[in-house]
Amino acid sequence: MVVRIVIGLVLTAIGLTFAARRMWWLYRVSRTGQPAPERIAAVREHPGRDVEIEATEVVGQRKLLQWSVPGTAHALTFWGFTVLLLTIIESYGDLFSPTFAIPVIGHWAFIGFIEDLFAVAVLAGIITFTVIRLRTDPKRIGRESRFAGSHTGAAWLVLLGIFLVVATLLVYRGAQINTGDFPYIHGVFASQIVGHWLAPLGTGMNKVIETTALLAQVAVVMGFLIFIAYSKHLHIFMAPLNVLFSRRPNGLGALQPMRSGGKVLDFEEADPDTDIFGRGKIEDFTWKGMLDMATCTECGRCQSQCPAWATDKPLSPKKLIMDLRDHALAKGPYLLAAGDEEREKLPEHIKQEAIRPLVGDAAANGVIDPDVLWSCTNCGACVEECPVDIEHIDHISDMRRYQVLIESSFPVEAAGMLKNLENKGDPWGMGDARRAEWMEGLGFEVPVADGPLGDDVEYLFWVGCAGALEDRARKTTRAIATLLHTAGVRFAVLGPAETCTGDPARRMGNEFVFSMLAQQNIETLNEAKPRTIVASCPHCFNALANEYPQLGGNYEVIHHTQLLARLVAEGKLTPVTPVAEKITYHDPCFLGRHNKVFSPPREIMERVPGVQPQEMHRCKDRGFCCGAGGARMWMEERIGKRINTERIDEALGTNPDTVSTACPYCLVMLGDAIAAKKAAGEAPESLEIVDVAQLLARSVQPAGDGQPPAPAPPAG
Ligand code: SF4
Ligand code: SF4
Repeated sequence: MVVRIVIGLVLTAIGLTFAARRMWWLYRVSRTGQPAPERIAAVREHPGRDVEIEATEVVGQRKLLQWSVPGTAHALTFWGFTVLLLTIIESYGDLFSPTFAIPVIGHWAFIGFIEDLFAVAVLAGIITFTVIRLRTDPKRIGRESRFAGSHTGAAWLVLLGIFLVVATLLVYRGAQINTGDFPYIHGVFASQIVGHWLAPLGTGMNKVIETTALLAQVAVVMGFLIFIAYSKHLHIFMAPLNVLFSRRPNGLGALQPMRSGGKVLDFEEADPDTDIFGRGKIEDFTWKGMLDMATCTECGRCQSQCPAWATDKPLSPKKLIMDLRDHALAKGPYLLAAGDEEREKLPEHIKQEAIRPLVGDAAANGVIDPDVLWSCTNCGACVEECPVDIEHIDHISDMRRYQVLIESSFPVEAAGMLKNLENKGDPWGMGDARRAEWMEGLGFEVPVADGPLGDDVEYLFWVGCAGALEDRARKTTRAIATLLHTAGVRFAVLGPAETCTGDPARRMGNEFVFSMLAQQNIETLNEAKPRTIVASCPHCFNALANEYPQLGGNYEVIHHTQLLARLVAEGKLTPVTPVAEKITYHDPCFLGRHNKVFSPPREIMERVPGVQPQEMHRCKDRGFCCGAGGARMWMEERIGKRINTERIDEALGTNPDTVSTACPYCLVMLGDAIAAKKAAGEAPESLEIVDVAQLLARSVQPAGDGQPPAPAPPAG
């Protein structure tokens, strides 16, 4: 008896000491990161929301369950281990007294039943994981596997560890039944089966098995604890924290402003020598960034949805987080060293790790390759999928900011776009004088705001650079204006006073140019005082609605599909001319995933007579990018398959007559891919891409009638 107590306590002391030491070291490394007071403030300000998010994301396993089979297996394992904490209490009680029972509930048949039920559920979970891992083994299917690049050896060890925890538990409980020490009589169906197998060995041998299995269980649990602290399974402890401190509702929509030392950077006062511009080294990340790195489970859900990875680019959001984490851990001793003298005494490999550039090619031994950094389209699929709420786009953007603002290192072809934004206010450098050209020949006057809008102007139509200056996007702009005019909506535009929202500059990493353009627009908008802004470009929509409030510009902003769907529902627009076509809708990432506008474009299509909508396999929150976001529109795509071609290949799989979308970037990118397919004889000549506004305009305007039926009221 004394021996088993001593062995049990020694095993426990060893396990807890090693695990606690590791956790303390990880905590100290994370403290070398920058402060993130806004995360703590958000948690303090909304305790109700904190409880809700923990209940749904952690306890409810919401995101994991979106993948039905692996999600259910994970939920069974997670809930199983939560319930099995009761058996850990019982094991430690039994160390001291073999007939121990938890006070009050310790003899309830229900408790014995759920302990057995969840032990079996955990076994079912790990069998499912085993099958999934065998079927998706990266050694067999290469980068198609979401586990490609993950530490698969450690994952097998974890499955073995979980199996041993449950196996030793059931053996120990079965033996207890035979020795008469077991606190439960009814409901323990699994323990009784094991007890039945062990019964022929006799009471004496069952006593030995009981003690051995009990100590084995303590050893396995403690070994598992140490393994968790040193492996990717750290997420068991970190995930609830990471979810708690994550951005609400998630890391999509707005990019975060640049922060240095926990404060938003003011460009007027910022000093490159003392302030942090983006992330140039690992300790420039905040502790929340480091928590993200420590929390990654290497599940590869993000990787499986990433358009860059799917088209053979070197970027995997999972690998990016893993590489940052590995570097942070390897540089940890250097970061924690008390001073130069202590750093000098560190092993050579740690000193070498400390001088690695955060971003650099293979020759420079960089942690993140520039091709990885610049392949991201900011589509948000990784953030949407991540079950532990890691914020990949924030990290990518922060590293881009350092590269652009401090190193002046970025894809050279994007330099022209940045220069045009700075000098002309649009990415093509066409200038504000040409922003009114799209209105020519409309057949009605579009009011151009000059000063405050009149009280009777319901909407300010934000046309956007593409909508005003790009030939294909101009057709959408004309369709929207015509529809608004037809519906009798009082609207105005800014015309030459409108300038780029700054989205491409911000997504590229040039916060300075973004800030300059945004402030100029905010000044114009504050003078115009719009009741509601209707934007046709999802990137403008996202910047105006979600990012301008960071600079003091607060407006009500809607997307044109939301307004048009409402006008159709209210009977102000009536689609009558049939469009008898099979149409597949492509979700723009910045409208759909980033801003959750999925239904209005589909509602419009459903109301057009004759339209047969066909969904692509990857749609709505799992939509696949066109390849233009994250300023990729202005960069060459030299590696792998073109993302727009991949998307059009998928669209062609639905055999459509037309592809529709609701974004000028998507219109251009997918239009280019369709043109290339036609040239190669791989798509029918009749295939076209249109904005849903164009589709609606074709149906609302009687065929052959170029004139709108109702006059537009003037703006103020
Ligand atoms: S935002 Fe999109 S492209 Fe960028 S890493 Fe995430 S999934 Fe990949
Ligand atoms: S970042 Fe999130 S989704 Fe991607 S591997 Fe890590 S835990 Fe999984």
